[in-house]
Amino acid sequence: MNIVVCIKQVPDTKGGVKFNPDGTLDRAAMLAIMNPDDKAGLEAALRLKDSVGAHVTVVTMGLPKADDMLREALAMGADEAVLITDRRLGGADTWATSSTIAAGLRNLDYDLVITGRQAIDGDTAQVGPQIAEHLGLPVISYAEDIKVEGNSVIVKRQYEDRYHEVKAQMPCLITALAELNEPRYMTPGGIFDAFDKEVTVWSRDDLKDLDDANIGLAGSPTKIAKASDKVRKGAGEKVALDPKESVDYIVGKLKEKHVI
Ligand SMILES: Cc1cc2nc3c(=O)[nH]c(=O)nc-3n(C[C@H](O)[C@H](O)[C@H](O)COP(=O)(O)OP(=O)(O)OC[C@H]3O[C@@H](n4cnc5c(N)ncnc54)[C@H](O)[C@@H]3O)c2cc1C
Repeated sequence: MNIVVCIKQVPDTKGGVKFNPDGTLDRAAMLAIMNPDDKAGLEAALRLKDSVGAHVTVVTMGLPKADDMLREALAMGADEAVLITDRRLGGADTWATSSTIAAGLRNLDYDLVITGRQAIDGDTAQVGPQIAEHLGLPVISYAEDIKVEGNSVIVKRQYEDRYHEVKAQMPCLITALAELNEPRYMTPGGIFDAFDKEVTVWSRDDLKDLDDANIGLAGSPTKIAKASDKVRKGAGEKVALDPKESVDYIVGKLKEKHVI
């Protein structure tokens, strides 16, 4: 069984988001990590490898520095790693990103494709289902548990306060939730092996069936005009009043602010 996991290198927003003067993310100023949902997706693939046997390939489209993240995935137990990198692919929105990654996947054998539900920087949750659309694959999103039964997968799909059990024939695509599992740590041996392994590097020219009209900034229907951090409002006003006084007080405030 061949499993391909799409992993994205994202800025660690826990330390606060930093922006360039033009409103784009200042990625150089922030620690780069493997997107949390993707790490859970990779862990799910490695558990299938342990339980039913599988060959796990990780794929990323990004800057050359994403090589670090790929080596982390190899050190966790992935068998192969592919870096799709080329200046012509820069500035891509989700359409251009998914078109490019789908073209990369056409160069690979896959029975199961796993992506994260969402990346913590763009936060659109669009790329996974878009890749499935480009490749004509059934997609099951929001996976909380994944089992393999013969040539099918059975997925526990999160749905508000309950879940669906969904079965699909492979090849198919699943989007993973961080809640899916607790990813394993890299092993010292794994780290050593990871640095001996070759990361396959593809440029735009290695990607077939991909129209130049669908790549990079030029091929992106969505242009990010400006991104900015949320304006942190000051602490609210705390008042200790009895219920009746509280109602009068709130109504007064709402009138003061012309809400009512
Ligand atoms: C603040 C901000 C807002 C944005 N808003 C939009 C927008 O509204 N519309 C738009 O089209 N673009 C938007 N973008 C650009 C968008 O981030 C990029 O197109 C990005 O490459 C993919 O979208 P995403 O980050 O939302 O990923 P998601 O769709 O949330 O990613 C889902 C999954 O797809 C896989 N994946 C995504 N990117 C890669 C990659 N490069 N390599 C490997 N796997 C990957 C991962 O498994 C990931 O978990 C925005 C970017 C930023 C920083």
